[in-house]
Amino acid sequence: MSSTITYSPAYTLVPTYECFNHCSYCNFRRDPGKDSWLTLEEAKQRLVSLQGKGVWEILILSGEVHPHSPRRQAWFQHIYKLCELALDLGFFPHTNAGPLFYSEMKQLKQVNVSMGLMLEQLTPKLLETVHKNAPSKEPEMRLQQLAWAGELKIPFTTGILLGIGETEADWRDSLSAIAQQHQSWGQIQEVILQPHRIGSQQSWTKDGFNLEEFPKLIRKAREILPSEIGIQIPPNLIEDSQFLLACLEAGTTDFGGIGVIDEVNPDYPHLHPDSLEKILKQGGWELQPRLPVYPRYYPWLVSHLLDQKTLKSA
Ligand code: SF4
Repeated sequence: MSSTITYSPAYTLVPTYECFNHCSYCNFRRDPGKDSWLTLEEAKQRLVSLQGKGVWEILILSGEVHPHSPRRQAWFQHIYKLCELALDLGFFPHTNAGPLFYSEMKQLKQVNVSMGLMLEQLTPKLLETVHKNAPSKEPEMRLQQLAWAGELKIPFTTGILLGIGETEADWRDSLSAIAQQHQSWGQIQEVILQPHRIGSQQSWTKDGFNLEEFPKLIRKAREILPSEIGIQIPPNLIEDSQFLLACLEAGTTDFGGIGVIDEVNPDYPHLHPDSLEKILKQGGWELQPRLPVYPRYYPWLVSHLLDQKTLKSA
């Protein structure tokens, strides 16, 4: 087993927190019309201030405008322009903006080195509970996004959300579906195992994921997923350092994007990579930065993105 854990030095831009879905565990969304969109000028100011500070990835993480809304086109164009801006300023964009039309994915491939969408869970039974008012969480539609990413040769990050009412059998089914997607297309670079931790803004009152189950799940994921797929866990959601080390021993390979704030879990700030490094050293592990695209996918990048990559590694 490798003694290296990778992470992506990242900063998150949120074009908008507005979202037409209502997932009951959400700590991110605002009602449509109650959130002003991030302007290009504000984004530029923030990105310029990050230049030369060791940030590589710009995660464009957005709430969703309904696919049939007259505002959908403006929302999509805004995301596209933010990606272009990040690229122009020397960063590597990775967009996660919910389910997209095929044509939207195809356009975003031009300005993203990788993209992402959590499968969450394959079981449709969550559509009767936490996803009752979240049409975007229809599992077959999310699986379709993975297939389109494969067809379009977009390096892709997906994952499962844990502790939202699923069973252990559901974990297996969801991970197996992801493995099957990868066997068809080879597009999955990493799978996030994301424990739901209770946040201050959510309406759902049940307990989140029982963290004691985590090492068992990581081992199961390692058995089910092809070995070239990275297994990612968010270190800010695991406060106990010894337990974090146990999660590494179980098969974790990556910590994902680490930046100032975890926009999805704002109640759980990230440790600075220097502090994480000290914890990892206790267990004989090394922390290593990586780009948001894994080297085996460089041949999939459109040529100007490949130049960006070459510039960074030069
Ligand atoms: S979890 Fe995502 S899709 Fe669901 S309400 Fe929150 S922002 Fe929207």
